[in-house]
Amino acid sequence: MSSQPSLEQIKSKVAAVKKRNPAYGEVAAWLGQLLALTLEAAPPCLPPDLGLAERRTGQRLAAGRSMFEPGDLPLDLEQARGLLTQLKERAAQRPQGREQAQGLERLLAAVPERFQEVVNAFLAGDRQAQAQAAEELGLAPPVQNLFLRLALRPSLLALAQMVLEGLDLAPWTAGHCPVCGTSPRLASLAGEGGRRSLHCPTCETLWPHRRLCCPFCGNQEPEELVVLTAEGQEGYRLDICRRCGQYLKTLDLRSLAGPVIPVLDDLVTWHMDLVAENYLEENPVAPQAS
Ligand SMILES: [Zn+2]
Ligand SMILES: [Zn+2]
Repeated sequence: MSSQPSLEQIKSKVAAVKKRNPAYGEVAAWLGQLLALTLEAAPPCLPPDLGLAERRTGQRLAAGRSMFEPGDLPLDLEQARGLLTQLKERAAQRPQGREQAQGLERLLAAVPERFQEVVNAFLAGDRQAQAQAAEELGLAPPVQNLFLRLALRPSLLALAQMVLEGLDLAPWTAGHCPVCGTSPRLASLAGEGGRRSLHCPTCETLWPHRRLCCPFCGNQEPEELVVLTAEGQEGYRLDICRRCGQYLKTLDLRSLAGPVIPVLDDLVTWHMDLVAENYLEENPVAPQAS
């Protein structure tokens, strides 16, 4: 499933974050404004033939192969450049955003081939290539990724919508995104018994996934699947796998207002990443006997 949160939903999420955790108020409001720009952007133009008919066979999904690979997504980069220009102008209006805007200016001045390479490094999660580009541009890698993510958002959401229309996700049991292959960072629980969905950080698709199963390594041993909760953080929990050392930040939508807005919810739960990293440092994963 993929659906674009409305401007109203973005605004109410920003207000809820501010109320819940004032430390994130300013950054949430800023990101809300940037997300609003992605909603207002001109629609992207995707290639008319995505080869969906051949990709849509049940065997492909049953074999755990996503419809596209993170490095070969057909996106409208011209539209993304236009939107990135607007995002850069918005960044420049923020006192601490001047340097970010200069870095984005350098990215926008790059030849199309280089721009494509930087986009591919982001989509494929190639940390080394991301760090190299970020250094060249004078940007912090997370900032570079955030702006690329926002600039590509209309294309990614349009692609996900085209791919998911009429697609039966029933055979899909894998832990990565069925559309673009990216691993999730966020999960949500909803409905009776708290059914779990995983959320793609790239194209915002959500898909159901069994609760007692690590999406990263398939581990189903209850004693190796750790849940951490914190006082005063009702509705939020960490699901950590003691076998592979990966984790999900989980939002319980039975007590928190939805929808999950991956780019925003991921940023305003940054403290949970610190808790998870700390836990894994103190409880290192034991090497598995094969
Ligand atoms: Zn995806
Ligand atoms: Zn695992």
